[in-house]
Order: sequence, then structure tokens, then C-alpha cells
Amino acid sequence: MTCWVPGAAGSPYGLDNLPYGVFTNADQPARVGVRIGDFVLPLCAVAESAAFAQPSLNAFLALGREVWHETRAWLISLFGNEEHRALVEPLLVPVDDVTLQLPFEVADYVDFYCSLQHATNVGKMFRPDSDALTPNWRHLPIGYHGRAGTVVVSGTPVRRPSGQRLAAGSSTSGPIPTYGPSARLDIECELGFVVGTPTLLGESVRTADFEEHVFGVLPLNDWSARDIQSWEYVPLGPFLGKSFATSVAGWVTPLEALEAARVDLPGQDPKPLDYLSVGARSGYDIDFEVLLNGEVVSRPPYAALYWSPAQMLAHLTVNGASLRTGDLFGSGTISGDDKAQRGSFLELSWGGKEPFRAGGMDRTFLEDGDEVTLRASATGVAGGRIALGEVTGRIVA
Ligand code: CA
Repeated sequence: MTCWVPGAAGSPYGLDNLPYGVFTNADQPARVGVRIGDFVLPLCAVAESAAFAQPSLNAFLALGREVWHETRAWLISLFGNEEHRALVEPLLVPVDDVTLQLPFEVADYVDFYCSLQHATNVGKMFRPDSDALTPNWRHLPIGYHGRAGTVVVSGTPVRRPSGQRLAAGSSTSGPIPTYGPSARLDIECELGFVVGTPTLLGESVRTADFEEHVFGVLPLNDWSARDIQSWEYVPLGPFLGKSFATSVAGWVTPLEALEAARVDLPGQDPKPLDYLSVGARSGYDIDFEVLLNGEVVSRPPYAALYWSPAQMLAHLTVNGASLRTGDLFGSGTISGDDKAQRGSFLELSWGGKEPFRAGGMDRTFLEDGDEVTLRASATGVAGGRIALGEVTGRIVA
């Protein structure tokens, strides 16, 4: 099917993409829009559903998979048939004229730890005297509950957090905690999953029902203060070293747009328990780029992830914990086998000991004024590349 929207056909935002967001422009209130080419269509202008005249995607997300699918098919027909052009074209807003808002109200936020390469790298650095992987790692997707209220949309400045970190000369037997701004502020390049259809307390989601509940994805930067984190995380896991901000892209890409990007997982050994079993093509082949002040410093491959998102969701609910519309879960830092595929500065600089080059300088952790952008793309159902939303943040003192 061809697309009448100028410049959209063959672009990373063609008919095979159609991500959803929430935007403001001119003096209009925040409303739901879909991106096509370099334009945004406000859906409330063409559809009567109250779900679109909202400052968040939550009402649409709650309608469920059948409505998501029908809406997508209707949009493809709207942008694909010349007969609708006269009605729809005057309603399109140039994407450069809009300000994207947080696309959905985040209910609960969970972050996983699903990259074998990332977990191995971090284990070697944080626990040099024991096995890099903890004994549970290959048996369950490890995660923790994060702070939903500090998830922010791309473009929101990120203030350098302060907290407790250890002074030089500290040891395990003689820690010297001090208070002040983090000196080891970092990024984590992740993919976030957005839940639409809720469950009741006591229900669990089978891996086969992943697509009944998850609407779509967006790149996610889990900003991390490594000095605060390494002092606080034993025994209960991440807390203030993570909770100050998590940035997400302004566009949510529907799972349907990623159908051609599905791939087999790299392989799981040992075989996980039955409630975590998945079939072929349970992973996604999505290429990420990490840019520091406009320069690509890493290319993490999502296809390398050990655990699939269906396994993450099954594990998250196996105890009967309910889902709410707007729940968000992150994959965990995406790192590949190569040094140039690592998804955090902690790994790129090996704990700050092996600086990497960027901007003509040796770099380790984030400086005030640094801007980080995560970009991602995948093969679309039409055979070309589709872009996921970008997520950017600048560090302020
Ligand atoms: Ca993380």
C-alpha cells in the first residue's frame, strides 16, 4: 500500500510504524497523536472515541488488543488511501511544531536485568571475588520495583543526584560514608515495555498471552548513580542510586510494528521452569545507538538479550501480582559481546579504569552539560527500517 503523506513512504515513520504519543502544539491542550512521516495526526480530530481526547494514552491502552489492532488497520487505510487525503491532510501537524509529553501515566515501574553480558560485566566489577553471575541468574529474570513517579519524557533535564557514597580510603570493614553529588553518574540503555490490559489480583500472565497485555515499546534510559548504588544496594537492591529519574521516549511503538523484527533468543541453559517456557521468535532484533553529545559511543544489540519480554511479564505476575494499565517494565541494560556494544558508561570505561574516547577526550562518567540520546531501529513489516522514538536527556548540576 502506498502512502499519500508527503515524504512518509520509505521513511523510518511510514505506514509500517505508526507510533503513538501525546503532544501539545500552539495553544491546544495535550492530546493523543500518531506519527506518520514528519507529521503528527491528532486522533481526536478524526475519531469520536473519548480515548483520544486525553492527555495520556492510558484510556486507549485499556481498550485491549482487538481495539489496538482495529485502530492500526484504520490508520493504515486512512494514510494509505488517496480518498481520505482531502479530509486528513489539513489536520496534520508538522512534528517540529509539537512538544511531546510523557505518553502515558506510569502505573508501576519494574526494571529487569536480562542481559547476560551486562550482568557478567557488572558482577566482575562489583563482586570481583565471587562468581560474576549470581546462582539465580539463569533461572529467573531478576528485577526490582522502581519509582514510577520519576519516569520523565525525553528532553527533560536530569539533575545530578546527591546522596551517600563512600570516601576514598573506605574498606568493607571500615566504610567512610559522605554526602554529596554523585561523581559516577551513568546511563543504562534499555527497552521499555508498556502494559495496556490489566489483570486481577491473584492472576498470572502466561508467556503465550504476552501480546494480550503489552501494547508496545519505547527506548528507556535508566540513569544510575554508581557510587550511591554500590554503597546502598546490598542486600535489597537498587534504591536512591536509580530512583531520581528514568527517561523514556515520547513515542510508543506498537508490538504489531515489530512483527518482522522477532527473532529466536540466543539460547537458554539450563532450560527454565515451565511457566517461563517460550517458543521460537520470542526475542526482538532491535539495533540501539548510544550518543554522547551527538557522537555514537556504543551500539547495543537488543537481540542479544537472554530473557524474552514474555518471560519477564510471566515472572512479574507468577506470584499473582496484578497488572495495571500504564505499567512499565524495562529490559535491563542491553550489552553485547563486544566492547563497542556495551550499554552503560560503567562498562564502556570498565568502572572508570579504562576511559573511552568521545568528543576528542578520554571519558568515564557523565559531566554536567553532557547530553545522552538513545536511538533504536528495527526491520519493519514492509522490509525497510522503522525508527523507535528517541530518548534524550541533558545533565544539569
Ligand atoms: Ca536498569
